[in-house]
Amino acid sequence: MGFDMQPNLVNSRLIDVGDPIRRDKCLWNPLSVDPVASQFSSYAAFQDTAVVRPLVPNVPVDAELINAHDQLSQQIAGDSYPCTGAISVFAQKGYRFGLFPELACDNAVRAVCHDLYEFCHEFPIIDDQLTTFIAMFRGPAIESEQHFEDLLWDQLQAMHAIDSDFFAWDKSVDSDPKNNKFSFSIGGRAMFVIGMHPKASRLARTARYPTLVFNLHEQFERLRARGKFETMKQIIRAREMEAQGSINPMLKNFGDSSEASQYSGRAVSGNWTCPFHTHKKDDVTTQQLTRIAPQSGCSFKIKRGQVLRVLDPLGEQVSDLFAFDEHDHDCWLSSGRSVDYASRIYLTTNDILYANNSKPMFTIIQDTVGLHDFLLTPCSQEMFEILHRHKGYHPSCFENLLNSLKEYGISGHQISTTFNIFMNVKVDQQGKVMVGVPMSKPGDYVDLRAEMDMICGLTACSAEGSNNGRFKPIDFSILG
Ligand SMILES: [Zn+2]
Repeated sequence: MGFDMQPNLVNSRLIDVGDPIRRDKCLWNPLSVDPVASQFSSYAAFQDTAVVRPLVPNVPVDAELINAHDQLSQQIAGDSYPCTGAISVFAQKGYRFGLFPELACDNAVRAVCHDLYEFCHEFPIIDDQLTTFIAMFRGPAIESEQHFEDLLWDQLQAMHAIDSDFFAWDKSVDSDPKNNKFSFSIGGRAMFVIGMHPKASRLARTARYPTLVFNLHEQFERLRARGKFETMKQIIRAREMEAQGSINPMLKNFGDSSEASQYSGRAVSGNWTCPFHTHKKDDVTTQQLTRIAPQSGCSFKIKRGQVLRVLDPLGEQVSDLFAFDEHDHDCWLSSGRSVDYASRIYLTTNDILYANNSKPMFTIIQDTVGLHDFLLTPCSQEMFEILHRHKGYHPSCFENLLNSLKEYGISGHQISTTFNIFMNVKVDQQGKVMVGVPMSKPGDYVDLRAEMDMICGLTACSAEGSNNGRFKPIDFSILG
């Protein structure tokens, strides 16, 4: 099943291949075998009325962790606390948290990475609930807003040094803090970081302990897509006015300027430069897996002779692929031609995916699953309404392909039947079509050799029915 190549990881030195359960855990938490990370891990949840430690249920919960949680919870529940995002996170109990050693020390760096990998694994699906990981630190004593900001970036820089050994930067955001699309990334997932500490000038950023709040970026994009983001922002501004008589000057829109300037909470001037930089690992760049977040998509170019690997990191997740000739957008991936020439509806190793003009586009050169669909179109808003009587907005592969391919001048009517990698579609004797649970296990992959220069769109499918009810990410890389 391809575990010899350690899917999802770009560095396999920590993998213990002897024990399958540990090995699987290493795929999503490579620090689970790091003794320091495990020792200082503090992953906690608030369930019913008590703080629990789900990873170590038999260990008594540290009193300081309980105190730290209760104090923060009371502060946010207080009348003068302005941030409604934080208020709803606490009300919905959609958060995990921990209390760690001093901010930016090595033990804290490893433990927070460890716990964020657990967090990413526990919340692969983003729904309407806001989901957040709150890392509180026992020290040091914060002297000023600048002091906290320096420590915040030291911590994030050191976390990235570890993370970049294992995961690629989230493809949906930029890794350059000067870029307007910048967001911090860990475990392959973009996170908007909010710093809080005792010396903060804004009420919303004040906390007893130095604190970093990691918010999954996907949830802001979802709020924005549903038109709820503006409303939330207006309410926060009104509450800030009421509580503090002014609005935080750093409350800006994602995309208008780099969000890096908002992380520490200090009001910075226009010529502020972010101390953070990403590791450029040129030797592994082309081998690195890029992660497509659940219910999203991306586009990229591939050159003739290169190999596209599409990998299912958690299992049972479909990925829709569509492609155009880079130099002729009237030449596109054709299900009809491909099925006709293969004389089969199930295509696998050695089969060719053809274009509408009968030119070969891809050859499948490796396939650890052997069951994919090439009959159905990408899921779409209309499909959810017609087939499932869905009301209201639903994320879809069609929308994600369209949004991703737009930058190449592709429009909706040009997107036809996708090659639905890992999708389990069965046809019975009477011709009845049934969608089943994908056969793919964690780490399964398909390698497709490009037979021409192409523009491709690729998704992590948004349809409940195709993915056994859980939305997971998809990883891919371009080899050669
Ligand atoms: Zn889909």
